[in-house]
Amino acid sequence: MTLQGRVALITGGGSGIGRSSALRLARAGSDVAVLDLNLDGAKQTAAQVSTLGRRSVALEANVVNSVEVRAAAARVEQELGPVDILMNNAGLAWLVSFPDMTEEEWDRLLSVHVKGAFNCTKAVVDGMIARRWGRIINTASIAGLGGMGRSVAYATAKAGLIGFTKGLARELAPYGVTVNAVAPGFIDTPMTDTWPPELRAQRVASIPVGRVGLPEDIAEAVAYLASEEASYMTGQVVSPNGGSYM
Ligand code: NAD
Repeated sequence: MTLQGRVALITGGGSGIGRSSALRLARAGSDVAVLDLNLDGAKQTAAQVSTLGRRSVALEANVVNSVEVRAAAARVEQELGPVDILMNNAGLAWLVSFPDMTEEEWDRLLSVHVKGAFNCTKAVVDGMIARRWGRIINTASIAGLGGMGRSVAYATAKAGLIGFTKGLARELAPYGVTVNAVAPGFIDTPMTDTWPPELRAQRVASIPVGRVGLPEDIAEAVAYLASEEASYMTGQVVSPNGGSYM
């Protein structure tokens, strides 16, 4: 499986699953642009990509802001070339019961996950269509498949992202552009570090394979979905989750 000569853009690439995916794609031969709100994190990932011998650029942008996203995509094209692989991965989550959830929290979660994917995809999709090749990979979640208490807005956003994946997959299939989602289970990243320890332990204990998921478990699925070999996979939700959701 090789991604030699490809250019990938990973949002939320400055941490966790995005960083691990950036390094996995780089190991497969892709150059990688790393976009994040957190420029320091993006720079750290980009530096690690460079040590693997691939070109990289770190970009500071908020995926919700279409102007920032378009400017970032233009810089990627200028510095690395046209984007072949887009991973819509930027995200955030926190636990809040539905009665306590504010309208602002609801809007923020939906906009980062769903509008963010819309903005980033709009910024690169015309080029993919014109070149008749592209891979779009959206980071959903098992919360978008099975629901999750104290995460209703998050689950709604991730289910929305799955709908986005399937609709877009149908539309772009004739152009050689595949669109798939990865739906991780509980993964050890800075996002889940904020969970109370007893809740984390309880959650991990319920995973059938008997261990917490690692960002690398997701990166392997991402590398496959980005590959030439996955040209017949589109509109799918691939869920590395240790058996948590079947
Ligand atoms: P993380 O916190 O380590 O990484 C998320 C990154 O996204 C951060 O670097 C953050 O700065 C960036 N980001 C957040 N909002 C942004 C915005 N508006 N614009 C640009 N960048 C932004 O968390 P992670 O666990 O690696 O999460 C990556 C993705 O995986 C998220 O979409 C998350 O919902 C999803 N996910 C995570 C888990 C898990 O258990 N960790 C499970 C299922 C799905």
